[in-house]
Amino acid sequence: MSRPYNFSAGPAMLPEPVLRQAQEEMLDWRGTGQCVAEMSHRGKAFLRIAQEAEADLRELLDLPEEYQVLFLQGGASSQFAMVPLNLLRKQGDAADYLCTGSWSKKAIAEGKRYGAVRVIDGSVDGRFIRVPAQDSWAPNPEAAYVHYTPNETIQGVEFPYVPETGSVPLVADMSSTLLSRPLDVSRYGLIYAGAQKNIGPAGLTLVIVREDLLKEPLPGTPTMFRYKTHADAQSMYNTPPTYAWYLAGLVFRWLKALGGLQEMARINERKAKHLYAAIDASDFYDNPVEPDCRSWMNVPFTLADPSLDERFLAEAAEAGLLTLKGHRSVGGMRASIYNAMPEAGVKALVDFMADFERRYG
Ligand SMILES: *Cc1c(COP(=O)(O)O)cnc(C)c1O
Repeated sequence: MSRPYNFSAGPAMLPEPVLRQAQEEMLDWRGTGQCVAEMSHRGKAFLRIAQEAEADLRELLDLPEEYQVLFLQGGASSQFAMVPLNLLRKQGDAADYLCTGSWSKKAIAEGKRYGAVRVIDGSVDGRFIRVPAQDSWAPNPEAAYVHYTPNETIQGVEFPYVPETGSVPLVADMSSTLLSRPLDVSRYGLIYAGAQKNIGPAGLTLVIVREDLLKEPLPGTPTMFRYKTHADAQSMYNTPPTYAWYLAGLVFRWLKALGGLQEMARINERKAKHLYAAIDASDFYDNPVEPDCRSWMNVPFTLADPSLDERFLAEAAEAGLLTLKGHRSVGGMRASIYNAMPEAGVKALVDFMADFERRYG
């Protein structure tokens, strides 16, 4: 069976070997006679799955010991609240937020419910086409943390640098970029990511947090919104998303077998360069983002004649290239090319785009 290439921004494609292994193990995980989804989260079999997944993730990221990994639910959107609830010492404390697109805006709106949020605005005439240069802003030394979005999934804008924040903890929403390349975790206080872009299926949210930040949250914070609750219980305070955790573990093993994040980065860079080169070489397609801030993961582009959008999408789908419609707030097209998108998928898209331009351009 030949599967189509799915360019969805999330939930996104999963690596085919991962799906095959899950299929093989569906009815009987390693002689237990059980599907992983049927197992007690406190049983021996699942604990092994959980611990192996964490060990593999730690190895992939070369995670320093003082960082804990939490396997949570609620999506990155819950983290928009959990971060201020747990990192502000008291209601109204200062926090800095870099605003570079739709997802940082949402994090800022939630942060403002709890803290005195200062926004460092990266927009240019109301558009998000680059990030603020490091030397154009300085963190407030009184801030509890600096929050930013290294990859803006909707605008396709990516930070080419890790913000320098001195002793102020750096917090990053890495939902659409975690595991796409090597990462120096020691630069961060806290990293979070919804799984459905680059890590696994929806339903799992990863939080990587430096232990000294696991303090008492603001008064009134629900038990489930307290990092310490989950850190103290190895993410098993309540029933964790067991099957999603298992599938993420298979993805981690797939990444290791591929050669780790360095190799993944080489592949991702090739995919992105190939697609941007095709867009730049044409007058028919356009990407508005400044070249050094272009995302490797999400590539928005427009057609010179938007009245051809529907035809483009229909013919692409017929050619097995799915979910290329841009986010409703931006319009045009968007190709999300996460880890699980094969290079052949990007080649097929570029070939289709050239052919479409020949016929309609
Ligand atoms: C998808 C996404 C989110 C939202 O994730 P949910 O898991 O749906 O809450 C937040 N931030 C970024 C950068 C995203 O890409």
